[in-house]
Amino acid sequence: MPTYYVWTMDDVGAGGSDVVDAMRQTCACWESFGVRGTLFVVPKPHGAPMSPEWIEALNAMRERGHDLQLHGLTHEDCFEFGPPNWPATDIVPDFIPEFERRRDELMPRYTLERLQARIEEGLALMQENFGVQPTAFRAPCGAISRPMFEALARVGIRYQSAMFISGTGYDHLPHRPGAIAQRWVTDIPHTPFRWYSGVVELPVLNEYTWRGAWQREAEFLALAKEDVSRIAQESEVAVLLTHTHGVGDNLDYARRLIGSVIAHVRENGLGDFATLGELIASGRIEQAVRGAGPDILAV
Ligand SMILES: [Zn+2]
Repeated sequence: MPTYYVWTMDDVGAGGSDVVDAMRQTCACWESFGVRGTLFVVPKPHGAPMSPEWIEALNAMRERGHDLQLHGLTHEDCFEFGPPNWPATDIVPDFIPEFERRRDELMPRYTLERLQARIEEGLALMQENFGVQPTAFRAPCGAISRPMFEALARVGIRYQSAMFISGTGYDHLPHRPGAIAQRWVTDIPHTPFRWYSGVVELPVLNEYTWRGAWQREAEFLALAKEDVSRIAQESEVAVLLTHTHGVGDNLDYARRLIGSVIAHVRENGLGDFATLGELIASGRIEQAVRGAGPDILAV
């Protein structure tokens, strides 16, 4: 079976004109290869209504075939749907002490009723602004909890994508080890897997365009090719991550990285590209599910 690769972009809908432009230019880059992306949208960024500029830009992207899915509600911090998780804790080591300092304030967020209400508010805004009904969810900063999965199941969202197969896309940061080399986790499956409340988790392969990655271009291009080759042998679905502010940090680099991954997949016959929405609707994700995930969430 061929592997379907999915380009995803996070933090869409949050931030000013610079990141709107980064999103637009990245979508144009995907389109130049005949590919469409999945945009994970923050429907109420930092608790405020989304800007008219974002709403207009995202409606245009939807009309061009890009896929709009749900990335939390406000993304006001990195603990919206659960305690801090890896690899966000590699990017910002202070997340763990910050969570501990704010524990009494944060823990009451994680009830089924409150999390369900947040998701429902996000869904209503997606319907109002874009006329879409998201079928996939990505918790901001990968911060997840059992009640979040139950809330997703209750509102009919059966696909979540926030765990990582590899976090080496952040190893260029000043406080990280430094070597850009393939290292994959062994504690979760590398395929889509059935997880809490029956929701399917779609693990993220890696991110190659985090801020500053362009300074290590040759290493990141090599790593991306190595990762996408290996995942073709292990899974029928591979989720690739970008962020608005990551690609916006150096758009020329982002375009080279994207072009080089797409060429590598096609030249080597590894598979093709699709959006999450398409793969969910066609049943391809369900077909790609292999087994159940481990019981690892404390909350
Ligand atoms: Zn995010």
